[in-house]
Amino acid sequence: MTTTRPIRAEISRESLLHNYRVLQDAAGPLAELLVVVKADAYGHGLAGCAPVLHAAGARWFGVTSMEEAVRLRRLCPQARILALSGLWPGEEDAAIEHRLTPAVWEPYHLDLLEKAASRCGLAAGAFAVHLEIDTGMSRQGVQLRDLAAILERFRAPSPLHLEAVMTHFHSADNPQITAEQERLLALATESIVAGGFRPEMISAGSSASMLQQDTVAVTDLATSIGARRIFRAGIALYGYAPGYAPPQAAVLRPVLSWKTCITALRAIDTGATAGYDATFRAARPTRLALLPVGYADGLSRLLSNRGFMLVRGQHAPIAGRVSMDQTLLDVTDIPEAAVGDEVVLIGRQGNETITAADLAHLTGTIPYEILCDVAARVPRIMVDEPC
Ligand SMILES: *Cc1c(COP(=O)(O)O)cnc(C)c1O
Repeated sequence: MTTTRPIRAEISRESLLHNYRVLQDAAGPLAELLVVVKADAYGHGLAGCAPVLHAAGARWFGVTSMEEAVRLRRLCPQARILALSGLWPGEEDAAIEHRLTPAVWEPYHLDLLEKAASRCGLAAGAFAVHLEIDTGMSRQGVQLRDLAAILERFRAPSPLHLEAVMTHFHSADNPQITAEQERLLALATESIVAGGFRPEMISAGSSASMLQQDTVAVTDLATSIGARRIFRAGIALYGYAPGYAPPQAAVLRPVLSWKTCITALRAIDTGATAGYDATFRAARPTRLALLPVGYADGLSRLLSNRGFMLVRGQHAPIAGRVSMDQTLLDVTDIPEAAVGDEVVLIGRQGNETITAADLAHLTGTIPYEILCDVAARVPRIMVDEPC
């Protein structure tokens, strides 16, 4: 999307590549790294990010939906593309036509794919899928009690090939809980192998697992059946650690900077108010800067009177309510502030930095949500410099 409003998200190629290399090292030479670019690359822009990762050697990509998968197929004709949320009726033909790889677990996933595959005349075992096992998320995945029945669906002449066994850890920062999930994954894998199947990959572990360097149990499981491990990393690729901050997270570099500029300035007297509901009242003669960014751009309204941004390398507090398209900053303590000055919502200016984790902390959420919330109407611009 293009806009003539002075607002943009800069996406640093260099930082994205840096994080990719850190994660590639953490995965090691024997495991595969799947880069998760769902939700428009966590708000960073699929079109800008995916080709950079592909050129750096990423072979596997994870997306939410078939729409995203089809967009990605156009950008990266050679990539393997995992549709993490399965598929919905009407998407099965596109899945086959575009050589996508859905995560599957519901019988209807298999029904849809079998029918589409027979319409295309695919041979037995010609279409790869990743079978998800529910080891405790209770969201996606076959429950262990249903596994035997679903495995029968993969026998010849089924067009489906069980390429990978997949699960998702919900508390990767908690080794006890993860060990229980790993135990269930191992049980499921045993039944799959005992059923005569030879999955080529075991897919488990997101950014949190990789940053914990908690790689052993699943990697050993994969090795024991002659399969490779595949990690699926999202948030760390974009420079953030999930939830807590292990020491390894310090090496990650935030990829997105969010910038606007001062479009007008005004002075108000002591006692004057600003914004909807007059929640800001000047306690002194005050200088306010107007910014063309609001909650419709993804700036949380919860930051009203709480958030801050960088102007001339200093923190300036948000004054009053964040409006739909506009926000005011109190720049009384930055007398040099002028119309046209760059304002940083996320990123670095001078020696100061504001991260998505800072905004998440102020609004009671996680960096994932802050990044995904940057609205589609904010243009993503690829830049070479780090943030
Ligand atoms: C989003 C997602 C990931 C990536 O998680 P991060 O915490 O961002 O690394 C991995 N696997 C699945 C199934 C996901 O949905």
